[in-house]
Amino acid sequence: MAPPSLPHEKSTQPFWLTAPENLHDYRSTESLPNKVDIVIVGGGYCAAALITHVLEQSGQNPPSILVLEARQLASGATGRNGGHIKPDPYWHASHLVEQHGFEAAMELAQFETDNLNAVKAYVEKERIDCDLIVTRSCDVHFSHQRHDKAKAALSKFQAAGVRASQDAFEVGPKYAETVSGVKGAKGCITFPAAHLWPYKLVHHLFQRAVRLGVNLQSNTPVLKIADSPDSAGRWTLATARGKVSAAKVVVATNAYTAALLPEYKDQIIPYRATSCHITTSGTAPLLTNTYALRFTDWDHDYLIPRPDGSIIVGGARSVYYHDKDAWYNNSDDSTLVEEARKYFDDYMQRHFIGWEDSGAHVEKIWTGIMGYSRDRLPRVGPIPGRQGMFIMAGWTGHGMPQIFLSAKGMASMIVDGISFRETGIPRIFEETQDRLTDARNKVLETWEAAFQPKL
Ligand SMILES: Cc1cc2nc3c(=O)[nH]c(=O)nc-3n(C[C@H](O)[C@H](O)[C@H](O)COP(=O)(O)OP(=O)(O)OC[C@H]3O[C@@H](n4cnc5c(N)ncnc54)[C@H](O)[C@@H]3O)c2cc1C
Repeated sequence: MAPPSLPHEKSTQPFWLTAPENLHDYRSTESLPNKVDIVIVGGGYCAAALITHVLEQSGQNPPSILVLEARQLASGATGRNGGHIKPDPYWHASHLVEQHGFEAAMELAQFETDNLNAVKAYVEKERIDCDLIVTRSCDVHFSHQRHDKAKAALSKFQAAGVRASQDAFEVGPKYAETVSGVKGAKGCITFPAAHLWPYKLVHHLFQRAVRLGVNLQSNTPVLKIADSPDSAGRWTLATARGKVSAAKVVVATNAYTAALLPEYKDQIIPYRATSCHITTSGTAPLLTNTYALRFTDWDHDYLIPRPDGSIIVGGARSVYYHDKDAWYNNSDDSTLVEEARKYFDDYMQRHFIGWEDSGAHVEKIWTGIMGYSRDRLPRVGPIPGRQGMFIMAGWTGHGMPQIFLSAKGMASMIVDGISFRETGIPRIFEETQDRLTDARNKVLETWEAAFQPKL
């Protein structure tokens, strides 16, 4: 198995990064400061949301903050994702009930909806130009059995009074195809969701923070974090451009965390993924929903319509998931998942009613690395055994409806020293020693259930 790796120097170019903005390769100062209050490692959505909330919560006397990004701003998963903010009001949460209890599952469903509302409110308040569209998402199922399972999960959450699930609406087999517009749909469930241009959001948040004094250093990988703090409780981080000492360190490196912190090896797993941008040469029906086409337990695609009528689709697991090395523990975003282009090229014609003569085709395709948490839950909060060090990572391909408010809670831990339990972040996100030593690998379990021969 390959050792944990830093981000590859070269990467495939996603649609979202075709028009880089002024902070793309930015360095606030020529050299690194020797000493700061807070270092954030990684310059993705986590870092952007965190600096926003730390500045907001620390009033007139903000701490000195340094952000060290290995490549360009938002060049990790954030700049390569599907742009889909999809709070899940029933599906993932229902799978957590058995292990974590109903309360914890409800908490997660509600948190994701609250996140969507918080992002919407913030984008509106700050008038951020990031193509935010608030709409509904449509989860489509292709067998009666799968749809019945989803419907039962939703009914249970609705009956229990989970606020987030009250606005979800189930459509049965009779109208599933016409309501969803998806061929072969046997049922669908719709609920509030949004899509946006993630790079533009993150760039805007960084622009504001840099104006307020945050020091951003792109193209500066952290090569090592000291194994323990010095006698003053400060951490030393080494880069090729010199060392920095910080009172607090936030590790926001998602898929790449194990390259800096050995305890995250096999805990946050680099998971290679692919998305694409589809345009049409003819006319096509207007899509206004976002989608998840859920084929099997492990195979689903997600889709958002862009305001210009083009489409972003991601997934294509059916063409490469069987080959574990192609995705598991694979942090190579410099090459394409070749089979995916063919899969996506006639995707709209295959799945969407009325798109047969649209001439829809892949305009751009790229690879990105997700950070899959071994137990499929994000890791947020103080890192056990590392006083003054925090983690925000392991979003398991679903960070967009979770990060903004997680960062708000994280900021209160850092600025005011409040405990994780007081932050409002779902309890199941809390990093603990138990999780770090938990042997159960749910990411591999799913793969093995699909592809390992049964003995
Ligand atoms: C193809 C793809 C599609 C996705 N689609 C969706 C979607 O539609 N909806 C959704 O909710 N989620 C989606 N995700 C997941 C989502 O993008 C992530 O959850 C989210 O962007 C995580 O943000 P982050 O800041 O934690 O990580 P990242 O954006 O990956 O940021 C981490 C940063 O850390 C930097 N870094 C790493 N190591 C170091 C180091 N040693 N020194 C300095 N810097 C370092 C990296 O270069 C990177 O920029 C998708 C992900 C991928 C890859």
